[in-house]
Amino acid sequence: MDSVKSPATRTPLIAGNWKMNLDHLQSIAFVQKLAWSLKDASHDFADVEVAIFPPFTDLRSVQTLVSADKLELAYGGQDLSAADSGAYTGEISGQFLSKLDCVYVIIGHSERRTMHNETDEVVAAKVAAALKHGLVPVICVGETAEDLERFGPSAVPVSQLKAALAGVPSDANIVVAYEPVWAIGSGQAATPDQAEAVCAALRTVIAESLSDDTAAATRILYGGSVKSGNIAGFMREPNVDGALVGGASLDIDEFSAIVRYKKHVGV
Ligand code: PEP
Repeated sequence: MDSVKSPATRTPLIAGNWKMNLDHLQSIAFVQKLAWSLKDASHDFADVEVAIFPPFTDLRSVQTLVSADKLELAYGGQDLSAADSGAYTGEISGQFLSKLDCVYVIIGHSERRTMHNETDEVVAAKVAAALKHGLVPVICVGETAEDLERFGPSAVPVSQLKAALAGVPSDANIVVAYEPVWAIGSGQAATPDQAEAVCAALRTVIAESLSDDTAAATRILYGGSVKSGNIAGFMREPNVDGALVGGASLDIDEFSAIVRYKKHVGV
């Protein structure tokens, strides 16, 4: 398991979850400005990968812009249907996301689990659908404040990840995001030590459920009130390979400062 602890081969990923913000016209202006900001700062996308997760209705505009301007930004959907097609009013198939050149899709965000009653079984079915359509699932797990009190920090995220990986091929290309629910949008981030402890436990789950090689290769992100002022602390941890950023991903200066964490804090 020594190789599992080495972050050397994992490209950090900074991902911005826009949630239900920015319409398609706003998304064009935002992506242009973000790209300029990162270009001005000579950001090396091979060194730190950047992905954005706009609302579904923005994806075609983002695809057109990324392709026309040859931007190195990756993008994806915030959710997908477990089904491929058919009578599922309001749902979006993974096939549609692939056709829009999405690389990633967020699955099991705590807002989907709580507001849309997504169970571990639904999350697992969506992970299977994402992989079937060539998308990299960004599998979100995390405990509520009540879970933390009752079960400690790792129990719920570990059990959610085990369920999400049931039936996943051992060499699957996945990303995991540890997002303590109490830290999301609260301004109260976990400490780097707290994030590291859970991310290390999640890497062990990947090793046991899939394989040591997959565990070594998989990026595990921390999410929950990440800002430019605290990102460096998380990125110094060996099992934290990036961040899933909500609120701060809607502020171009702030998000681009998070992406450039190596430059402005000298990591
Ligand atoms: C999120 O919702 O995924 C998130 C991490 O939000 P925030 O950064 O605003 O806490």
